[in-house]
Amino acid sequence: MTKQQLIYENVQAVKERIQNAAKKAGRNPEDIHLVAATKMNDAECVKAAIKAGIKIAGENRVQELVEKYEQKAYDGAELHFIGSLQTNKVKFLVGKVSLIQSVDSEKLAGVIAKYAQKNKISQDILLEVNIAKEASKGGIYPEVLPQIIENLCNIDGLRIRGLMAIPPISHFTGENLYHFDKMRQLFIDISQKKYDNVSIDFLSMGMSGDFEDAISCGSNMVRVGTAIFGARPYMIK
Ligand SMILES: *Cc1c(COP(=O)(O)O)cnc(C)c1O
Repeated sequence: MTKQQLIYENVQAVKERIQNAAKKAGRNPEDIHLVAATKMNDAECVKAAIKAGIKIAGENRVQELVEKYEQKAYDGAELHFIGSLQTNKVKFLVGKVSLIQSVDSEKLAGVIAKYAQKNKISQDILLEVNIAKEASKGGIYPEVLPQIIENLCNIDGLRIRGLMAIPPISHFTGENLYHFDKMRQLFIDISQKKYDNVSIDFLSMGMSGDFEDAISCGSNMVRVGTAIFGARPYMIK
């Protein structure tokens, strides 16, 4: 099987898993957005995924994104940024990505707003929540989230569209249900508050190893890499 065929088969398998998980949870599979996490996979792989039906690509590193962008890797799909983002790199993203999923501080949001204003656009963002309060990870702690949304909601150039979370690496099915469920609760709480200019549409959580569990807890955006492209070089031991 060629790499292209393999990616095609994998995309269909992931879609089927999403459908089954949605049905099991009594949800409409169409409500769940599949983001292909494309890090460390080259333009040819990304193109193959889009040809196989991927509608959103999610990239982690700015430099890698810019390179593949110039190679037209993402043509035919939406592009999201899902990795940790330094303020000095924001200028390379605004205008290229439809959603920045990994906004983990007010300061970063402010810089994004500045560049969006400069470009006369409104940048959609998700706020990244550090749901397990892991010291090694970025992300906003749940208890300060409402205040941060309050502070950001009226800034020109920004539109908050929801929440994103990367819980601890899970080793077995069900391990992250506790964190996913806390995210669901947070998502509901935030949705019920009526902030100006905020439209809480997306709950982005779930990766190759645990997206079924995430879907059972209300995720409507899953970010899947390994199950589509295979293991990344550093994962092969
Ligand atoms: C790599 C990555 C994913 C996908 O992880 P897999 O386990 O390969 O599916 C999802 N989200 C983020 C932020 C990532 O960096």
